[in-house]
Amino acid sequence: MDARDSLRHKGLRKRLVEGIRIKGVRDQRVLDAIAKIPRHLFMDSSFIQFAYKDQAFPIGAGQTISQPFTVAFQTQLLDVQPNEKVLEVGTGSGYQAAVLLEIGATVFTIERQRELFLKVQQLLPELGYHPKFFYGDGYKGLPTYGPFDKIIITAGAPYVPEDLLLQLRVGGVLVVPVGPTEKQIMYKITRISEEEFEREKHGTFVFVPMLKGTVN
Ligand code: SAH
Repeated sequence: MDARDSLRHKGLRKRLVEGIRIKGVRDQRVLDAIAKIPRHLFMDSSFIQFAYKDQAFPIGAGQTISQPFTVAFQTQLLDVQPNEKVLEVGTGSGYQAAVLLEIGATVFTIERQRELFLKVQQLLPELGYHPKFFYGDGYKGLPTYGPFDKIIITAGAPYVPEDLLLQLRVGGVLVVPVGPTEKQIMYKITRISEEEFEREKHGTFVFVPMLKGTVN
């Protein structure tokens, strides 16, 4: 356990996990990851006291750490198996990446805001989490590192990025909230052959927008 974590935090996490279970996430690997990860260490000091509320909070650069239920829900849809290659678009605080690492994925994560990219690259290894970090535009994905077993987009996409679909292996899954800035529909898209994709809808969410290009 990190020295900045405590039994009190652990107790708060247990309650958070119970709330997420009641809201419908039943994948035990996902719930165990949330029970273990010290979310308060991913947050700005001004919001630390709220770390175990099931809400999104600001993390700087106009971005947010996603609501724990949303992280759990997206991760459950992704259905990660140990050692699968997962691409995350929108590193942000690094919390979602930590959840993916806890359940055994090899994680590649892209962030377009340089400030957040630099911050998370210091924080995650301190907590024992080692994804591969990239600074860039997630719309393009990481063509030289693909294909991926799973891809997760953690910002609201105005449409499904074609380049990302093409970086999925056959049988691979993309989980992405799609829609305008006010609200998005969560899609689970499975590549069932080279040419064919199957889409399922999984409810409405609100994310910060997925934007083009990078911010220095
Ligand atoms: N997964 C994060 C959620 C952060 S919010 C977490 O667990 O904290 C979404 C993040 O996506 C923001 O940091 C935002 O800067 C980033 N983002 C938005 N558009 C992007 C793009 N095209 N490429 C990469 N990152 C992007």
